[in-house]
This record gives sequence, structure tokens and C-alpha cells, in this order.
Amino acid sequence: MGKYAVYKVEKYDDTALYDAVSRHFEAHDIKSKIPAGAKVLLKPNLVVDKDAAFSVTTNPRFVYAVIRYLKNIGVEDITVADCPGGALLLFSEMETVYRKTGYSFLSEFAKLNTDFESKDINSPEDSVNKNFNIINAVSEADFIINIPKLKTHNMTCITAGVKNLFGCIPGLQKPAFHAKYPAVNDFSNMLVELAQTVKPDFTIVDAIDIMEGDGPTNGKKRHLGLTFSSCDVFSMDAYIVNFLGVPEDFVATVSASRKKNLVQEDMEIIGDADFSLEKPILLPSGFNATSGFGKLTAKVKTTAEKLISAVFMSYPQMNEKCVLCKKCVVTCPKNALSIENKKIVLNKKVCIGCLCCDEVCPNAAVDIRKKIKTQR
Ligand code: SF4
Ligand code: SF4
Repeated sequence: MGKYAVYKVEKYDDTALYDAVSRHFEAHDIKSKIPAGAKVLLKPNLVVDKDAAFSVTTNPRFVYAVIRYLKNIGVEDITVADCPGGALLLFSEMETVYRKTGYSFLSEFAKLNTDFESKDINSPEDSVNKNFNIINAVSEADFIINIPKLKTHNMTCITAGVKNLFGCIPGLQKPAFHAKYPAVNDFSNMLVELAQTVKPDFTIVDAIDIMEGDGPTNGKKRHLGLTFSSCDVFSMDAYIVNFLGVPEDFVATVSASRKKNLVQEDMEIIGDADFSLEKPILLPSGFNATSGFGKLTAKVKTTAEKLISAVFMSYPQMNEKCVLCKKCVVTCPKNALSIENKKIVLNKKVCIGCLCCDEVCPNAAVDIRKKIKTQR
């Protein structure tokens, strides 16, 4: 039987973090699972180059606690690697991303990857995607520890363990997947196949400060004070989504995992599982169309959301905070954005509503508006 562990941690304090991380690793007996002399890869969320205070990225003190624990159990070869979102690395060096996210000090204790050479890795036989091009730091590791930040996400509603692995794909190949799979269900099926291909050995989630509202990069920080872990990333994501009280149907990565029978029903839960939310998580605006429907059941609300999403789509609308940095223009997988008369202009006819533009915007300059779908 698989397991989830949940432990409370009130703040990013090194002693408290080390204590919680140790309990997570011991709960799953990770020490016995790491081969002697293994290359261990830590995969945090470094989607953008923002300070940890924004709660966009995995907190560096959390990753530091994982590194300290690994060192104490004798692991020497530790690499931290993630490939940021969209076109960020065309505008910035990876060293700058590590500096701005507060990760640079970790170079004393682990390798901080700056090499995004990649190769094709075959996916499971029944996959739509027969292989994935994955950065070598991930594909050459002997043991992969996935360290996501728990956030809302304007496309997949919630992002945790499965979605975090999208950063194993190099640079602009990520927006290309949005162009290939514009429908959220197809895109999420791809994410699940990618997770089956990467096969993380262990996932430990930073949910001490999370993001709610219009995540993954421009939502609001919220204190939750929790950490989650499991060796089964698919079941863990389903557990977290249910724990948050979010209808599973809203989270297409969980629905896709269930369709593939990857979510176990009989998992053991250990730790501080008695915790309950004081108030509901604020979902991204695209998932709130039925919020005024009162006390309808989740099933009725989900059906209403589906009907609404058949007619409406989330479109970006740039606000006065835009500084014309062009990150969204270069990242957009459909070339739907251009600069005209010192303004970002959207071509609604080709926009697929993936909101990669919002994800890479450093200035929260992208408002999301539900509008009637434009015929393509
Ligand atoms: S919307 Fe954001 S990413 Fe796009 S040009 Fe303006 S500031 Fe840059
Ligand atoms: S403009 Fe449309 S297609 Fe381009 S990144 Fe934004 S939402 Fe996606």
C-alpha cells in the first residue's frame, strides 16, 4: 500500500524545515531507496526569476533542508535543475534566475544546473507522445526528487507534483506543447505521460506559503503551513486536490491520471492529516464562473463550468503595468501577440487561451478576461 505524509510547518525556518523534511523522508524510508553513489536530482519549481517572497517558486530554504538531509544520510552527488517557463532564458542567464530566486547560496552544497542539453526519452507504450525531449540533468539522474510549489494555475486549476515536471522540457519546447495541445484535457494527458516518463522517485511539496487566485505566477500569496510527500506523484496530487476541496473535474491532470488508473484508492495517510482549511482556496478567475451559483453541488457546478467553457475562453488583456519587455510576445506559441503603437496587441483569431503570456510576465501586466470564443 502507498502512503502520503502531511506535516505542518509554520514558517521557512531552517530548524523547523529540517525537522519536517526528515520526517517526510523517514516516513517513506527514502534512505533505503537511494542507491549507493547515486546521482540525485532535485527538481524545484523555478518557473520565473522572482523572489521567494512572491510564492511563485519553491522556497530555497525548503530545498536547502532537503539537501542537508541528503548530505546527512551520505548522499554526495546532488544537482538542482529546472528549466524556467517560456522564453525566459532568451532574456536572462540561469545564474540570474538562481540569484533572483534566492537559490545561489545552494551552490555551496549542491550543483546548480546551467546545462540544458537534452535528449529523447521513450514514454510508456500506450502513450500518445511516443517520447519526450528531456534535459540531461533529469534523464541521467539515478534518483529524482520532485519539489513542487503548491499553487493555483489558470489552465490546470491546481499545480502540484505532475505539472511541476513540465520544467524537465527545455525552453521554447514548452510553449510548443501548448500549441500542439490547445485543449486542457489533451495538454494534461501529455503532462501525465511526461510524468510517467520522468518517473520521479519521491515528491515533497512546499505548501507552507502557497499561491491562490490567478496563479501560477501572478496570483496571491496565502499561508497554508503544510508540507506533503509521497512516492506516488499521481495519487498525491489527487489527495491534495481533494484536501483543498477543489472539484477533481476542475483539475485536468488529476482527471487524466484517473483515466489511466494511476491514482491509488487505498493509500495510507500519516502525519498531520487532521488539518482543515479556514476558508476555501480562491481559484483562478477562469474557474470561478459558477462561484455565484450558491449551494449547488460540485457535480452541477462542474457541468455548468463545462458548458460555459464551450462558449467562453480566457483571453489575456495587458494592463498599464506592461513595460513592453516582449517576454510574452516571444513566448506565445501561436504568435498571437505583437507590439503596435507602443502597446501589446492580441490577435484573438489565433489565441488558444493557454495563458503562457501571463505565466512569463514579470510585472503582473496580464489581466485574464473570459470572452466569447472567436471563431478560428
Ligand atoms: S505584458 Fe508583461 S511580458 Fe508582455 S510585454 Fe508587457 S510586461 Fe512584458
Ligand atoms: S496570447 Fe493567447 S496563445 Fe499567446 S500565450 Fe497568451 S493566451 Fe496563449
